[in-house]
Amino acid sequence: MNIIDLHCDVLLKLWEAKGSLRFADSPMLQANKARLYKGKIKVQCFAIFIEPNIPADLMFQAALGQINYFYKEVLGKNPGMVHIKEWSDFDRLKIGQIGAMLTLEGVEAIGNDLTKLETLYRLGVRSVGLTWNFANLAADGAEEPRGAGITRFGREIVLLNNQYQILTDVSHLSEKAFWNVMELAQYPIASHSNARELCDNLRNLTDQQARAMFQNGGLIHVVYHSPFVKQAERADISDLVKHIDHFCSLGGVKQIGLGSDFDGTSQLVLNLEDASKSQNLINELLKYYSEEEVKGFASQNFLDHRPGVGR
Ligand SMILES: [Zn+2]
Repeated sequence: MNIIDLHCDVLLKLWEAKGSLRFADSPMLQANKARLYKGKIKVQCFAIFIEPNIPADLMFQAALGQINYFYKEVLGKNPGMVHIKEWSDFDRLKIGQIGAMLTLEGVEAIGNDLTKLETLYRLGVRSVGLTWNFANLAADGAEEPRGAGITRFGREIVLLNNQYQILTDVSHLSEKAFWNVMELAQYPIASHSNARELCDNLRNLTDQQARAMFQNGGLIHVVYHSPFVKQAERADISDLVKHIDHFCSLGGVKQIGLGSDFDGTSQLVLNLEDASKSQNLINELLKYYSEEEVKGFASQNFLDHRPGVGR
């Protein structure tokens, strides 16, 4: 069963390796092309993520560097990889092709300059999360002790996302910023977060947040990073399925998806260690849910709630 995966950090690894990793088959990449094919990933989202230790004036350059690897290494050397630039591009993918979409994880790279954000849109970014874990000019992240909401600048970004039909990703936001975004965002999504009720971590969503997301027509994509699935010990696939069950109990059966976090963590759920194993999750889900429901989680819910299609 085909999968749309809303989050991986392949670009960060390619950029850090300075050209020494091949996207096609490097064993260092959990989501290399060979593994995407084996795991039946039909569309992979590629996050641009700038490490907090990069000097601020070099961050935009770093973002462009990662985008350059996306164009040259991911797309340029692999004809089967097709750039998803518009929401309707999902419908044009042919058998044997894998769609690739750019996302932005934290707006540090644009400084205070919305022109840079519009430039990133034009290069293909279709989802923007305001923060990673800490504070920036737009908002506070989930692990910023201050716990503030979004700034005037953050508000401008969300409104610009709306105008361009770009997803606004809440996955790393502080709770206060989450609620600010939910009031403004036309296209909210949590690209890689689980249920806090089952695993008490600041990166996971409370029931109240999840309900609000579903009521607003948004999506929650569950993440395979083990510490967000189960506290204390390594999670297995049945633990991850519990998060999907829980979100279903909150009304999300048609708004749940997948956001692996491959190449963003080494602590993955057992038997989901790389993209080639993705069908293990599908097979487990098929034990408890109808084929139509599982197809929803795997890809259809996202397709149905894309900007310009479902909302
Ligand atoms: Zn992340």
